[in-house]
Amino acid sequence: MKQGGKNLEAIQAMNRTLLLRLLQQNHICSRANLAEQSGLKQATITNIINDFISWELVEETGLIEGCKGRRAIGIRLKTEGFYVIGVRLSRKYFEVGIFTLMGELVEEEYREYITNTKPSVVIPKIQEYIQRLIEDHPEKKILAVGMAVPGPYYFEEGVIEAVFTDWENVSIKRMLQDGLDLPVVIDHDANAGVLAECSFGIDPNLYETVVYLAVGQGIGAGIYYEGKIFRGATGIAGEIGHASINMDGPRCECGNRGCLTCYASTLAFTERVNQRMRNTGRQPFKQFQDLIQPVRQKDAVIYEEFQVNMRYLSAGIINLIYSYNPSLIIIGDEMSRVGEQVPEEIRYNIRQLVERKVLNQAEIRLTSFEKDSAFIGAAELAIDYAFVHTELFR
Ligand SMILES: [Zn+2]
Repeated sequence: MKQGGKNLEAIQAMNRTLLLRLLQQNHICSRANLAEQSGLKQATITNIINDFISWELVEETGLIEGCKGRRAIGIRLKTEGFYVIGVRLSRKYFEVGIFTLMGELVEEEYREYITNTKPSVVIPKIQEYIQRLIEDHPEKKILAVGMAVPGPYYFEEGVIEAVFTDWENVSIKRMLQDGLDLPVVIDHDANAGVLAECSFGIDPNLYETVVYLAVGQGIGAGIYYEGKIFRGATGIAGEIGHASINMDGPRCECGNRGCLTCYASTLAFTERVNQRMRNTGRQPFKQFQDLIQPVRQKDAVIYEEFQVNMRYLSAGIINLIYSYNPSLIIIGDEMSRVGEQVPEEIRYNIRQLVERKVLNQAEIRLTSFEKDSAFIGAAELAIDYAFVHTELFR
């Protein structure tokens, strides 16, 4: 008997999670739409939606076009009331903001450049901003905190390796959690990126496996498979930036030689361009940002280096295709700001290197977001936690 009761509770919790995810994907839909998409009985849907309405989590919107052309009452997640906090920690800065359950950043946002990279300095700073956001907005019920971090990131231990000095011996998950009364979820920025794309950018049901490739100061891939992030045994699956493309190459900060990141990151690109600038007596560029326009305008020297960079990146992408066989690869982070030239050059290179069939299997495109997908994904980490732990809404 006891076992049966427990199972029923577990099933109900799973059904709630499923409906919340569908509501988030659909924006507005009818109860009949939910029944159709979830395979659950109408009565089950009615009961759960009644609970959601009583928790002020879901609202009715009036009549919409329903199944078989019949008009039905629309329902949607309420955009006010419940919120999460998203934190994006990169190599150079961190930013903190409040998001709705639909992944929209509501105005409040703090960004700070990291000068002292010790975790004992940076993490308390992040906590301070989170506390300030909570205190400044007592009317908003904050459910959880999600943070996207550079990798390699060991998900279970909560440890970042080989990005900053002094970080590999502390669990930032424990550290961040310690000072906060809210649940904390931390993941690799590429995993957060793929989660944002598959929740708010594309329809993940249309693709077998989706890979989000973050090409920024580092390179990493987030893999979305069967409705969730594929992390592997310890959380470093997709850490393609530290897979070697040249075993005789330079030593990387991770210890390996000739890592993809050493050749194809935005830092590597900027450095190579600047080498050419110095050799020809031209002024070097301060940052990657300043190179975007020259690439778009096809400045001869800079575009040549961009093509070199895309060749290296394509070698990494071919490894990704052979490892995970994705049907969609989304390019995000700094490099994606260059625009369509990125996927165009990649497609060209892949066509030169491997059988046409390999390329045809994987669609390659740019991120769906103007904003950093890892920041939106950080919020989605927290939202998804709340969707699983629905007691937070009560
Ligand atoms: Zn490496």
